[in-house]
Amino acid sequence: MLRLSDRVNRLKPSSTLAVDARCKAMRAQGIDVIAFGAGEPDFDTPMLIRNAAIDALLAGKTRYVATEGDPAARSAIARKLKGENGIECSAEHIVISVGGKHSIYLALQSLLDPGKGQHVILPTPAWVSYRPMIELAGGEAVEVAGAIERDFKITPEQLQRAITPQTAAIIINSPSNPCGTMYSPEELRALAAVLAAHPNIAIITDEIYERLVYGEHKHLSLGSLPEIAQRVITINGLSKAYAMTGWRIGYACAPGSGGIVAKAMAKLQGQMTSNITSFVYSAIVEALTNGAESIEKMRQAFAKRAMLIHTLIQAMPGVRCPKPTGAFYIFPDISAHFGKATPAASMITSAQSFAEALLEEAKVAVVPGEDFGECARSHVRLSFATSERNIEEGCRRLRGFIESLR
Ligand code: PLP
Repeated sequence: MLRLSDRVNRLKPSSTLAVDARCKAMRAQGIDVIAFGAGEPDFDTPMLIRNAAIDALLAGKTRYVATEGDPAARSAIARKLKGENGIECSAEHIVISVGGKHSIYLALQSLLDPGKGQHVILPTPAWVSYRPMIELAGGEAVEVAGAIERDFKITPEQLQRAITPQTAAIIINSPSNPCGTMYSPEELRALAAVLAAHPNIAIITDEIYERLVYGEHKHLSLGSLPEIAQRVITINGLSKAYAMTGWRIGYACAPGSGGIVAKAMAKLQGQMTSNITSFVYSAIVEALTNGAESIEKMRQAFAKRAMLIHTLIQAMPGVRCPKPTGAFYIFPDISAHFGKATPAASMITSAQSFAEALLEEAKVAVVPGEDFGECARSHVRLSFATSERNIEEGCRRLRGFIESLR
């Protein structure tokens, strides 16, 4: 009889991927579902980036490469981070991995040990994978709830109160999945001022949505702030901004303490996956060097959709939600409808039951808030990485569903 590890038995499957799978299954049965579930751009990867990979493949770049990545791609990433983000780094501080997800996983595995009681501060609502990845590394997630009135952002006072001698790390994600909001440079500087007084805390900053911003704020990289730069591990990747989710390209930049974290991550990766696919490195260089125009077009489309979906959702009865300022999500509070029944007599008692009934009865897929943290239980996440037509039709159905609740 085969037996599984406790580690795997404790692990919950990703709820966002589950919604996506359910949606695909319904579509395969011919059901017309409007999907607000998937966290991926609906655009195709820009042609110049695809061509770079094709050329590399045809040129025979098909062999093993250094685990951390091809030197030209690491240099291009370091140049971008230095030039655009103000992070003092060089190619040796960069590790290219199988998506941003893998980069975060490697960072946490490199920083935490089981049995040591290490805490990782997690401002919530937070992306569904952080908690499982913290726990797989043996750490404990300490949630700090961002209030809806503050666009779900935590305050320096909240951060100060959450720090204890056990705090080993913090994960900051701005712009945020699932909140669709972002910290202003001043707000990040205020959080950094608190962290500056705690020199043993590692700061993981997930900046994967940095290019997708729509409000008045500019994105600030925490790794550019000298008072904490030595402890910052910047995570980024090409999935979201360049519409390259299937390529699986993420990277980490960790220049602190002579790059020990980057070296540790590479050592770990060397026993896991080795290098990422050899012929995509040229596509990284192409994207970072010549991709700006293509991603700006996509950003503008997302910005328009952000306004559209916000206008439609905030006008729905009993729904509250801040305006999206970054990433491609909107995260409304729908708890005013808990305790009501649907026309098919399902009781809405939670975000989960709301999402299930919405999918079954109105054919609209959203992700329930539960897995984004305790404070997210009143919310559902909608991704607006879909056409304006889908946004209009999906919101029409959502509104009809809400109005039908008794
Ligand atoms: N970080 C956040 C906040 C995300 O939303 C995602 C994807 O959904 C990732 C990281 C991982 O992206 P990938 O592994 O596709 O690069």
